[in-house]
Amino acid sequence: MEKISVSIMGITGIVGNKFLQIIGNHPYFEINRVYASEQSSGRKIRETLKVDDYSIRDDILDLKIEHLNDKIFNDGSELIFSSLPTEIAREFEMKLAEKGKKVITNSSAFRMHPKVPILIPEVNPHHLSLINGNKGFIIANGNCSTIGLVLSMAPLRSFVQEIVLTTQQSVSGAGYPGVASWDILSNIVPYIEKEEDKLENETKKILGDIKQGDVYPSPIEVYPTALRVPTRESHMGSVTLKLKEELGEKEIKELYENFRYEGRRDKLYLLPEKTIIVRNEKDRPQPELDYLAGSGISKGMSVVVGRFRIKGNRVSYIFLVNNLIRGAAGSSVLNGEFIVQEGYF
Ligand code: NAP
Repeated sequence: MEKISVSIMGITGIVGNKFLQIIGNHPYFEINRVYASEQSSGRKIRETLKVDDYSIRDDILDLKIEHLNDKIFNDGSELIFSSLPTEIAREFEMKLAEKGKKVITNSSAFRMHPKVPILIPEVNPHHLSLINGNKGFIIANGNCSTIGLVLSMAPLRSFVQEIVLTTQQSVSGAGYPGVASWDILSNIVPYIEKEEDKLENETKKILGDIKQGDVYPSPIEVYPTALRVPTRESHMGSVTLKLKEELGEKEIKELYENFRYEGRRDKLYLLPEKTIIVRNEKDRPQPELDYLAGSGISKGMSVVVGRFRIKGNRVSYIFLVNNLIRGAAGSSVLNGEFIVQEGYF
């Protein structure tokens, strides 16, 4: 298969750098153009790296960064990945879609737009119908913690009435340079702007029904609290689900063991062998031990769960999601693979 040429907007950010690692070694996406703000314009990628470069090809490290402006509307790429800050994404992404470009984004700018799916292939592949076969469109990722939450509860989805959640989110979730070191070292910040609204609204949208081309949010109640903690990469969540009926330990274990992506997977390179990895040790998951869960090219794409406790119709557990891979660049690329498989190219 001939490679699909892609552009990346926001290449010098933390998520942009993860795109480099993932797309730089991808079997059918090829990086064509890379964009950032004016301050990065003309610099080589290797001069701007925020993450280690051990897996990035030299020819990609030598690519010159372009200032993002209207030239992108005619840059010749077949697919555009975006990791722009929300305000800048709002300026460009919908215009690109209106001009017939295919945009896959990490930003929250259009996540709640009625014609933009927040796509997770293992959970709501049918939401792709929101783009209605259009030539130009936006497909969004969920917020990094939302993706972890929704995947971690997916095996119990049809039983869930209510979700109570507290996240412990790493500093990389705030981008670069992110939270001031003075504010976060030896500390926990009990507030992340707009995060709790995103966790609630996006979860309800992702789990919603599609009727006559519109998405109807799930009636599941979500009560989130989001904390910033001084870890580097991956977000943890402690969750209590209220179920419609009581389930036994054996039943829950079986639902988790049997959970898998049901659709075609021949083009889904980043789809992990196991989307959810259950750890039975008393003290897992942990960010330092589990942030790259998965294997091969899918490292960081699995969500790790553990510490299950059951009390009546309430189930508590802990999850860990890699915010930069499954929570951002990896999920975007998986969505790109999904639309390739669905025949959009
Ligand atoms: P970041 O590290 O702050 O990177 C932002 C990127 O946007 C940089 O490449 C920056 O370029 C570029 N940029 C800023 N202003 C620009 C402008 N006026 N024109 C063009 N480019 C501009 O942020 P990040 O953490 O990678 O996050 C990127 C997006 O993904 C955000 O919308 C974020 O909410 C979302 N997201 C992040 C995570 C996470 O865990 N970090 C997870 C999910 C979603 P310069 O270097 O030239 O300024």
